[in-house]
Amino acid sequence: MTIESRILTDLPNRADDQLKPLWEYSDEELHMLRVTEFSTFLDHTWERKPTTAGQRESIGRLNWGIELFDGTRLTDPQNSRRLLWARKLMAVLLKAPSDCFGPAVASTGSFRRGFQWLLSWMSNHGYHHPHELTPDVVSHYLEDLPRILLDHQESEGISGSQAALGLKILTCLWTERRVLTLWGVPSMPVNPFGTKSAGSHAKQIATKTRGWIQPLPDEVAIPMFNKAAWFLNTPAEDVIQLLDVVRDPIADSDCIEVVVVMKGKEHIRRRKPGKRPAPRQRRAKKFLDSFQFSTLPGDTHPWHPPLNENYEASRGMTPTARVRQLFEAVREACAINIQGTTGMRISELMGIKAGLDPVTDLPLGVRIESSATGLYDVYLIRTELAKTEKGLPREVDWVLGLRPKDSTEEPLAVRALRLLNRLYEPWRPWANTSRLFIMDTGGETFRLKTTSQSAMTSQTMTGGMKRFFERWVDLSGLPDESKHKIRDNDLVAWRESKGTIFTTHMLRKSWAQYVFAVDPALAPAIQLQFHHLSLAMTDTGYIGSNPLLMTSMNQVAEQQRNLMVFETIMGRSPIAGKMGEQIERATRGLTEDFKNLPISEAWQRTVEFCDEQGLTIFFSPYATCLPIHTSTMRCHDEAHTPVGLRLKPNYATRESSLCAGCDNFAIDYRHIPFWQERYLQNWITYKQAEKRGETSGGQFRVFLDRAQQAGKLLKKVGADMKALERQVKMTLKEDHALARVH
Ligand code: SF4
Repeated sequence: MTIESRILTDLPNRADDQLKPLWEYSDEELHMLRVTEFSTFLDHTWERKPTTAGQRESIGRLNWGIELFDGTRLTDPQNSRRLLWARKLMAVLLKAPSDCFGPAVASTGSFRRGFQWLLSWMSNHGYHHPHELTPDVVSHYLEDLPRILLDHQESEGISGSQAALGLKILTCLWTERRVLTLWGVPSMPVNPFGTKSAGSHAKQIATKTRGWIQPLPDEVAIPMFNKAAWFLNTPAEDVIQLLDVVRDPIADSDCIEVVVVMKGKEHIRRRKPGKRPAPRQRRAKKFLDSFQFSTLPGDTHPWHPPLNENYEASRGMTPTARVRQLFEAVREACAINIQGTTGMRISELMGIKAGLDPVTDLPLGVRIESSATGLYDVYLIRTELAKTEKGLPREVDWVLGLRPKDSTEEPLAVRALRLLNRLYEPWRPWANTSRLFIMDTGGETFRLKTTSQSAMTSQTMTGGMKRFFERWVDLSGLPDESKHKIRDNDLVAWRESKGTIFTTHMLRKSWAQYVFAVDPALAPAIQLQFHHLSLAMTDTGYIGSNPLLMTSMNQVAEQQRNLMVFETIMGRSPIAGKMGEQIERATRGLTEDFKNLPISEAWQRTVEFCDEQGLTIFFSPYATCLPIHTSTMRCHDEAHTPVGLRLKPNYATRESSLCAGCDNFAIDYRHIPFWQERYLQNWITYKQAEKRGETSGGQFRVFLDRAQQAGKLLKKVGADMKALERQVKMTLKEDHALARVH
């Protein structure tokens, strides 16, 4: 069969004289063009018969009502020009492909996704036709593609083949350009991939996405976590009380006393409370009018202004609309605390069940186990995986937190679960689901008449979390760039969008980041939560048994490794320790090379450099371990591990003094808090002993050595040594004063 004969297409009930090339079909005649065995050009769905036994019937269906990311469908009138060329391209591929083979039936789904990604992007940027895809426009699309791919799937990385799907339609537009141009679809001006192949672009995109989802910048994460934790205390209790507006407890009383004024005199009358909207609204107004918000410890005023009759005039919002905002704030704060301190995905969060266990009185699904050392209670929650991946269990445990055995405090995430159960209590009887998170379509205020509630969708919760930023986390004072930027002006988008560029994947990354190293700027409750989670990882191995969390940890470990090397190259953050010095030497040449590069390109080159070197990294609060020199890993020397088995640190034997002399040890600014504390403790102890004249025997030598070692490392990573010395002097002075009093 010649190409020419394949190009001739058949009409329904064709006769030989009706055969004609595709491009001779006018737009008016398209309804007659049969594109597959079962479908004609204008059909809503094009259907092909599966060619392999056992394939689903649906595998060959292409439904053109593809939903674009702006919420429109490809079949909507505003997308008619895009739909027309998309159908023509597909018809050419099916009827007259340039490679003579055409796409396999099983690849129909991949075309659907390819069209969805490219056409969504074109729609967002106002492009309608392939000829508008100039090299600049294509390179803009390629730049956005990693974000598009990551935003629309649950996993946190993109494979080369997934990235190739995003390029598929561009490739086809170029290979089929001859027939398309004849058919009235002008081609792209040049090959969209230039001198490189689509495959190498796909590979590059896949590499790029490995570092794409960054943890929230500290400048954003810290105020967000602090505010979310703040809501979980007194404000949440106040908001739960405020929900009497919905509960309307008076409605169930037999009768109520009301004051009526008759002939200038007040009389008390008893009457039924009334369940109709008007009396309910009167009661709600009266209740809100008199509601008193609490004053938080250390404050002189209540944390929220009264919701009385002046509220609307001064704030432009009715008191009931404000109650809904406060309800949403507590709900979202709970969700952020649970997701942000467990690392679970939004779909797992939405899968948590409502209620308390009648036996343990813990939120449903939560259990307490004793840690391996017996020192801690470990709170775990079991959730069902929304999406199972090959080899993973259907249910998985998430660590909600730890507490020392003798403590009565519950981890933040457990508190959040209890609060959510109480928060939803007025609506629970009307819920048609056993899920904890439920929703209605109540608009701005609560419906006073309780209506059916269904399970909340991940999308609704994500929207709620974005609103939490907008309403409660003030990002207006953010500088243009974060302290650890890997892109120019990385905070501008946060400031300008008021945090609405947030995605829930970021919470997972931030979780891993803070488990590696708790940031002291976090509020004490959050610090403690992450500190305990860090223990869960290192001392109990609980986190290590959840494969999803390990993926996040590994990705963040890789990002942190890249960041450490990047900041060293850029001269932003010195590193100390033997491995630190080795990295400095190895990257010295790059510092010069990167001088004039844009930040994002320098970052990309650093990622490539670290990958080439095959650097793996392990964290602890006091150091970064890069076990390149396996024969000199001191923690394994202690345990006499054969060199061939030294794949990671020996957690049982490693400790700060041992690591500090190891060839694989490096520290940077992240480890300053640990070494500062060590310096102060040892130096003060030594100085006190010196004052007492007890150092000559040598028994305090170890304190001196430790202080000197810590001081040397701190100096190298740029710690404020003068401030530390002041602290030492002050402590010694206070000791002296105390001694005189006694
Ligand atoms: S002793 Fe410390 S730095 Fe050295 S290999 Fe072990 S954990 Fe890493």
